[in-house]
Amino acid sequence: MGAYWYWMMGLSIASSAIAGIVGSRKEAGFEGTILGFLLGPFGIVMVCFFDHRPVCSKCGVKLSQRPASCPQCATEFQWVGRCCLPKPQKKSV
Ligand SMILES: [Zn+2]
Repeated sequence: MGAYWYWMMGLSIASSAIAGIVGSRKEAGFEGTILGFLLGPFGIVMVCFFDHRPVCSKCGVKLSQRPASCPQCATEFQWVGRCCLPKPQKKSV
């Protein structure tokens, strides 16, 4: 019985680490760590469906880093924490 719990704890800690790494690629590292710890290998699978990356408000493309402009539609962004706001377009005269 003792060995069983020992293995379960080891599995939980290992899964939380893996799920945390997987999640952090999509800005869901915290959720991944929790899910991996609670659900073990199932948490790793679940975190694959998590995606907290911001999206372009204009074309909806996922933004992995914090680009100054959208790689898809070239809208310029202003970053406010995790949110991106499209910069007001300068009117060309
Ligand atoms: Zn865009």
